Amino acid sequence: MLSITLLNFLIYLITLINPSFSYPDELIANAAYIGTPGKGILAADESTGTIGKRLSSINVENVESNRRALRELLFCTPGALQYLSGVILYEETLYQKTAAGKPFVDVMKEAGVLPGIKVDKGTVELAGTDGETTTQGLDGLAQRCAQYYTAGARFAKWRAVLKIGPNEPSQLAINENANGLARYAIICQENGLVPIVEPEILVDGSHDINKCADITERVLAACYKALNDHKVLLEGTLLKPNMVTPGSDAKKVAPEVVAEYTVRALQRTMPPAVPAVVFLSGGQSEEEATVNLNAMNQFKGKKPWTLTFSFGRALQQSTLKAWSGKEENVGKAQAAFLARCKANSEATLGIYKGGSGLSEGASESLHVKDYKY
Ligand code: 13P
Repeated sequence: MLSITLLNFLIYLITLINPSFSYPDELIANAAYIGTPGKGILAADESTGTIGKRLSSINVENVESNRRALRELLFCTPGALQYLSGVILYEETLYQKTAAGKPFVDVMKEAGVLPGIKVDKGTVELAGTDGETTTQGLDGLAQRCAQYYTAGARFAKWRAVLKIGPNEPSQLAINENANGLARYAIICQENGLVPIVEPEILVDGSHDINKCADITERVLAACYKALNDHKVLLEGTLLKPNMVTPGSDAKKVAPEVVAEYTVRALQRTMPPAVPAVVFLSGGQSEEEATVNLNAMNQFKGKKPWTLTFSFGRALQQSTLKAWSGKEENVGKAQAAFLARCKANSEATLGIYKGGSGLSEGASESLHVKDYKY
């Protein structure tokens, strides 16, 4: 394990110092580095509106100084960055600095963590559907990617959203979102950014795990067809899917069952050329997401990719609660964040023993219906 980590880190360093290193090589190296066993991604790319909801839940005003303070708390938690290979940022955060004046991007680079950037512009409704959506942001995307690369970003995220209903997802929504993800992915690669392909199937509903597995397989198959059609270099991409679970209004199943269904859905649809799967947490509690990831890494079966995390809510909830916007709580909040990062790192190796869910907020469901990121 150590040798893979070292090798990936060395390749990453070469990309920083050798300008003749070409984009395909760099994309492949960076995607592999993000998938280093023992490491994962912190999704801290909440838009200004979304972070406002988080901050209002702890009675903190949604102003630039508070958003910056929260992000500094996370990125500067002593010891946490060793468990991360990437952090996804919102545009504002990419250009922010610590209170002492150090750019966040430099804090990450020095710790061997790749900065990433959310590049989509949210969802709009697809006409003629029952509230299904497509994701916007392709106009001007190449120029934005080039600017973000110059600012230090090395990977990107674009969230496509699908839902399970009596007639959903429609074929229109599946095709439209797969095509949008593929267009985004090739534009990112043309500008040096590793695209995270994120077709999130919302957990909302009372469907069982079989239904979720069936839809996940259909959606992933469509995505990989589109990525191939658009000539995307799969080795230089990452997949960010939902875990395969029953709907939020159905009875839960054991982590071993989630693991079996999720890995099987991936085996059936996801090419081994892709180096890593970086799961979203999708409204699971912190502990639930960690335990499910751990079960997948313990699962015996074909897994030609690293299975790791790219959690937003499931990495930040107990930290947010512990902080509550108060300077005197920063130490306590950072201890909560460190515990979640370490727990998820262990889960990527299948060695998590449980029990990091004891801090306030770690076991509570983070599900929000029709979640907007
Ligand atoms: P959650 O882990 O909170 O679902 O979010 C991850 C993410 O980045 C969704 O786009």
